[in-house]
Amino acid sequence: MNKDLYVALKSLNLKATPKRLAILDILVAESVYLAPEEVWRKMRKRFKSIGLPTIYRNLEDLANGGVLIKIIHPDRKLYYYLCANADHHHHFICINCKKVEDLSYCGAEEIEKEVKKNLKGRVISHLMQVFGLCKDCSVSRTIAT
Ligand SMILES: [Zn+2]
Ligand SMILES: [Zn+2]
Ligand SMILES: [Zn+2]
Repeated sequence: MNKDLYVALKSLNLKATPKRLAILDILVAESVYLAPEEVWRKMRKRFKSIGLPTIYRNLEDLANGGVLIKIIHPDRKLYYYLCANADHHHHFICINCKKVEDLSYCGAEEIEKEVKKNLKGRVISHLMQVFGLCKDCSVSRTIAT
């Protein structure tokens, strides 16, 4: 059992249940984003009778608690990803190999200025996920075509 994950759950006031820890273990081991069904398939090796609704519920709890990142994919399905970087940042998400990379750029300041100046409003929060092909995948795409 991963001690860091246990500590992370505690600090977010989420109960560190064996199922939650197992879900996190799976996502750490994979290092790509996973669909709930994929998490379920792996979880069934450890919890024989676990149902898909339990997986959905735990993934949602972990995402709402800030442990997991929910990926709102262009294919209209939901995926989950575990990122260890606690600083504010955004992700570049490869739609081909499912790799997720941290972006150092956050356009929030410019958007805040724009909202303030042109809309006379005030920004409270923002979400940004960028989808595309990672370096490796864009190279192989170019070769394939
Ligand atoms: Zn890729
Ligand atoms: Zn990240
Ligand atoms: Zn940002």
